[in-house]
Formats: sequence, structure tokens, C-alpha cells
Amino acid sequence: MTLIRPLRIQHTLSNPVSVSGFGYWSGLDVRIEFRPAAIDAGITFVRADLPDQPRIPACVGNRIDLPLRTALASGTASVEMVEHIMAALASEEVDNCEVWVDRAEMPGMDGSSQAFVDALRSVSRVNQARSRARLVVTEPIRVGDETSWIEATPSHHGEYYVEYQLDYTNCPAIGRQCFGIETGRDTFANQLANARTFLLEQEAQWLRDQGLGQKVTYQDLLVFGAEGPINNTLRYEDECVRHKTLDVIGDLALAGYDLDARIVACRSGHRLNAEMVRCLLHQAKLEDDLRKSA
Ligand SMILES: [Zn+2]
Repeated sequence: MTLIRPLRIQHTLSNPVSVSGFGYWSGLDVRIEFRPAAIDAGITFVRADLPDQPRIPACVGNRIDLPLRTALASGTASVEMVEHIMAALASEEVDNCEVWVDRAEMPGMDGSSQAFVDALRSVSRVNQARSRARLVVTEPIRVGDETSWIEATPSHHGEYYVEYQLDYTNCPAIGRQCFGIETGRDTFANQLANARTFLLEQEAQWLRDQGLGQKVTYQDLLVFGAEGPINNTLRYEDECVRHKTLDVIGDLALAGYDLDARIVACRSGHRLNAEMVRCLLHQAKLEDDLRKSA
């Protein structure tokens, strides 16, 4: 069973702060603005470009299935590629925040969370007078199959540990990589935030053939050929697995709670990560948090 106990206080931002870029898939310019929000408000995306400015709470019940990215929807309004933003907000412990956006697709930036962390750190974090609830994993939970799975087990000393095991034996330039970290504000900022997303050359070509990603260059993210990243340099030898770890943190943030757990993910993607969130909430009898929310 999974329990909840209050540990730390909630935070929001002192002032709005914005980030601009373009969406990888759509190529459309987009500006997002992080704005302060009230106690217990959580993270909410707001589509400022649509009539009545629809609100899309960042909860697993609002998740919709799109390939290779995490997307949320409420009614007919949606937002896509939210995982790197969610990872930044969660790791900076900005619990209550409105993310005003003027497009469906979030800016890809350099493929990492760095620009979002920098923006959040450029304003002050404000303490809010209520504790942030925490999900404590007290017995093992596992979802997936033999080849790709994600597992949550009890922590050793109240930590939130995330490990990723990556296996790209079909691309020897990536190969097998494993990375684990006790996540926190500084460890995320120093070891994960700037790890960029990656694609194989054939995947990039397939996307272009579909008319997607036309504006993306080899400098905007990592595209792996047989010899390694094409026209780009790795920031870490194991940058790929670090990015996958970042993705897990962003996806698990859809729980809406801090986690007290050891998470080990093996070849899991956004869909399986969301399945873990649902299992965690279900086992903690937080059925309300599993529903769609507007
Ligand atoms: Zn990612």
C-alpha cells in the first residue's frame, strides 16, 4: 500500500517568466509563460490562443496518447511535449504554477529541460503556507513486460531515486547505458537538466518524410548515425540515458505528489511511465486524482 504524509511546504513563483522557441513537430513558434498560482492549485496549462482560454490541469487523467511525447487534453484543447517542462517544475519544487501557452506544442529548445530550469531560477521561489503531500511507496509495484518495464520499490531513507536502463543495441553508438540518481533540486540541475533528447537517423528521416520536424536541425537535438551524433557533440558520454531519466521524472510528475520511492525503469517510454503513475495513485486509493480534470 502507498501512503501520504506531509513533509515540505509548497512553492510558487514570485513573478511571471517566459520562454520562447519553436515546436519540434509543428515547427511553430511558441511562447510559454510560467505564472504564480495559489496553494494546492498544482500545475495547469492555459491555452491563451484559444477562445475562452481553456485550462488543462497537468494530471494523469488528462493524458492523451501521442507517439514519442507526453500530451494532455481537456475538452478539445490540448498541449504536447510537456515532459521537459514538467521535469523542470517538479525538480525545482514549483508546485503551483500556471503555464500560459500560445500553441499546442511546447518549445523544444535544445531538447532538454535547461531553458525551463534557467527561467524558473531567474525569478524567486515563494513559500506557501501548506505542506506538499508525498506518496510513499511501501511495497513493490511493477508495470510492463519482460522487455520494457518500470518498477517502484520502497526508498531506503525517504529519497526519490530514479534509475534508467537503456538498451539500444541496434545502434552501437548508443548501446547499453544505465544511470541512477537521487533526484533533488541540485542533482537535477547539475546532472540531468541539460541532457538532450535523441533520435536515430532513420527515425528523423521518417519524421521528415511525414512532413514533421521540418525546422529542426542537427543542432537542435541529438540525431544518432552509426558513428554517433551527427554534426553535434555529446554533453555527457551517457547523455541519452540521462535524458531518459529526465523523461521519467517529468512523466511521474503527473502524479501531482512528491515521491518517496526508488524507481527503476528499463526501456520504458511515456506510456508506461504514465501507467506507473496510475498504479501509484490507485494503490494509494487516490481515485479522484486518476480522473479527468478541467
Ligand atoms: Zn524527453
